[in-house]
Amino acid sequence: MATAEEFTPESERVMNTLRDEIIDGTRAPGSKLVEREIAAELGVSRLPVRDALRSLVSEGLVTPRPRTWAVVREFSQSDISDLNEVRSALETLAFRLAAERRTRAGLAKLRDDLDQQLAASAKGDGQAARRKAADFHQTVTELADNALLSELGGILQSRMRWLLGQHDDFDLFAHEHEELYLAIEARDVQRVDELAAQHLATSRAKIAAHRRNANAGAKADLDPSVDAGDDLNDA
Ligand SMILES: [Zn+2]
Repeated sequence: MATAEEFTPESERVMNTLRDEIIDGTRAPGSKLVEREIAAELGVSRLPVRDALRSLVSEGLVTPRPRTWAVVREFSQSDISDLNEVRSALETLAFRLAAERRTRAGLAKLRDDLDQQLAASAKGDGQAARRKAADFHQTVTELADNALLSELGGILQSRMRWLLGQHDDFDLFAHEHEELYLAIEARDVQRVDELAAQHLATSRAKIAAHRRNANAGAKADLDPSVDAGDDLNDA
């Protein structure tokens, strides 16, 4: 019998596993999350699964259904446009403050995120490249050293990590992050402003292309003559 102390980590472990699977896309949007099935899959009881699903609902990654199941959230075009608008405002501020306030230790952490992203991108490891790119953005928010911005970042973290993963252009994003890193290192606020605006524009275009591609992929499953790869290079 698990004690109260042991119980919390188990529901957290379930939550972390499910969150990663949703953000990485291994659990597809709209797919069912059934307490009993997830409990069996992860070798836990139903209670920690229920708690984990409830937390993921509040993080905006899961849509609740009546009784004992839920679904992986399907972000609509309007959800994505809301996320893009908020991301734009918060990220512009975060990059600028990071350039002004970065510490040596903070910069080293950002360099480490970037190096891991570059390595993953060079290897063609999409999942690691996406995760490290999202880490890079989280570290920029830390470097901004503004408690309220961090609090807002925390509330939006899971949805933003999901959004940041909606692309297929790993080398391009690694390159843009490297330019941003160098401008932050140089405390070149004007350059950071320009690069951040450019990065947001690139991101919006690539997210749109990724979604067109995902939709084309869904159609291609039905009709093999549809080439799902074409939209990848749209900007
Ligand atoms: Zn980025």
